[in-house]
Amino acid sequence: MIDAICTLYAQDDENKAGNKVFSIFEFKALPESEINRLRYSLICPDCKQVAYFRKASRDGKQACFGSRYHAPDCKEFNPSVRRVEEEKEIAEVEKILLEADSLKIDFSRSALKKRTEKNTSKIKTETIQRQAPADFKEQNETEPGALKDSKSDKLNINKQGLGKLLTSLLRGSSLANSDLWVYTSEKHKWRAKNLFVNVNQAQPTENGAPRMYWGTISHADNSLHWLNPAEERSVAIPISKYRESLLERFDIQETRDIEGAGFILFAKCVESKDKKRKFLQLWGNDVNYFFSLKPKNSPPSLEEIALLNLLTAFFHSHKKGASKRLFSN
Ligand SMILES: [Zn+2]
Repeated sequence: MIDAICTLYAQDDENKAGNKVFSIFEFKALPESEINRLRYSLICPDCKQVAYFRKASRDGKQACFGSRYHAPDCKEFNPSVRRVEEEKEIAEVEKILLEADSLKIDFSRSALKKRTEKNTSKIKTETIQRQAPADFKEQNETEPGALKDSKSDKLNINKQGLGKLLTSLLRGSSLANSDLWVYTSEKHKWRAKNLFVNVNQAQPTENGAPRMYWGTISHADNSLHWLNPAEERSVAIPISKYRESLLERFDIQETRDIEGAGFILFAKCVESKDKKRKFLQLWGNDVNYFFSLKPKNSPPSLEEIALLNLLTAFFHSHKKGASKRLFSN
């Protein structure tokens, strides 16, 4: 369980009406006294049954929320394969935040699996060469000789694709506020908190430097030339210049294929003349800098259905076993 609702939270603070949803990452970062005050007031976000918080263990198990009282049809009790996968990815990014010195974004991983490794690495190298360092200068962010091969062996640098980073950002991990150094190329590094910008905070930067904007797609125009983020009406993503490769890469055939999809892109934010609209222009019009996650409410895959069936069967046999034991006692 990644989230839990805390029912006590609002009582001491008049400004914070209602219950508060905590992600496990937020909760475990609270001072111990606060954890102890709030931990008895946790409930499952889906079935609203009593939940608990468990600290990270000494042998390396992550901190987690759980509940022994989930309703049989609770989604937290019957997590989908996608959900389990997602939680694994989020935990991986959190581990990097805690342990790594820096993170390098591997843009080649944003391609669908059908592309071969060879092709993508070629694209990646070309991209880096094309983006001359003179394109943008981020004061105090970029240091000369920032990422040398000889050094990278000694430093604890992690490589991650955009998919995991996006999943983690969408689920409210600490990445968005982290001081971790993130490399977008061999030469450019940024503090994570300055690089990752939710689309509702998109603003043109002073020196025209790009940012990694992220959010969810609300809808596209009928001809699929514009994507409109759900978080902010005044922001749009014009995709005409790389439309074909983007649609092919993420298997988008009609507008509904992208509605509700998570996205992240390395882009420059520009304002319209009347300053009423903002546009996110993909850096170099290079689709390697764009990643989209299919909407979560898309129908489950065959594998997911098979696993859900297995879980349900297991749950039922388990219940029967439990009641038999109960009667024999
Ligand atoms: Zn539940």
